[in-house]
Amino acid sequence: MIFLKTEDEIELLRASNLLVGKTLAELAKIIKPGVTTGELDRVAEEYIRDNGAVPTFKGFPNPYGGSFPASICTSVNEQVVHGIPSADVVLKDGDIVSVDCGTYMDGFCGDSAYTFCVGEVSDEVRNLLRVTKEALYIGIENAVQGKRLGDIGYAIQQHCEANSYGVVREFVGHGIGKKMHEDPQVPNYGKRGTGTMLKKGLCIAIEPMITLGDRHVVMSRDGWTVSTKDRKCAAHFEHTIAVTSGKADILSSFEFIEEVLGNQAI
Ligand code: MG
Ligand code: MG
Repeated sequence: MIFLKTEDEIELLRASNLLVGKTLAELAKIIKPGVTTGELDRVAEEYIRDNGAVPTFKGFPNPYGGSFPASICTSVNEQVVHGIPSADVVLKDGDIVSVDCGTYMDGFCGDSAYTFCVGEVSDEVRNLLRVTKEALYIGIENAVQGKRLGDIGYAIQQHCEANSYGVVREFVGHGIGKKMHEDPQVPNYGKRGTGTMLKKGLCIAIEPMITLGDRHVVMSRDGWTVSTKDRKCAAHFEHTIAVTSGKADILSSFEFIEEVLGNQAI
């Protein structure tokens, strides 16, 4: 069941999502060769709680048992999504790390993700990041009243496949509100003019997960970490948006992150 949001609810979603953007910016300040993903998790959790929110990922139940042990997901290189931060995972020069962050504040969820470069990253991989971020914004351009969900997925898929990248099918974006995952599902692939009609007040997280090589993924033994089957790099960028009568209202923000990254931003 899809819950359309009122203007007041959209403002609460915006506040929660802005905190996600600011949390990711705190991490942007410290992502360098030598930092562990466990340290990123510690900094994120402290920042989220200091700002009166709760990290939604912590304790998030796994359908196959157990729950997510950390406040953010950190997926390095060939890891696509849902990587578990650890004091044992030290980021090295040339790595990429996708950080996905969720907050719960005043009854509403924030959800946004950004893939960061660690030190000097190859042009091949930087291009994957650039195209994935472009695909996110192209998807958002299609998230307008009167279009359909398939228009978003189609636009993302076209852009990525035109650049010879793979579009992950097994994981998708989602409705968002009082719960992090609401209806509808928002695939990063699809057919134009198909699927749920987009209406004013629909709030969704759009999150292309794009691979340098083949699109197929495997689940690791920890029950969470999703990696590419061919071990080539993957990128993940995510915004939470609200459908309005005009251009979509982007409720999360990369502005704080990119202020920190300066001319190193993708
Ligand atoms: Mg997310
Ligand atoms: Mg999400």
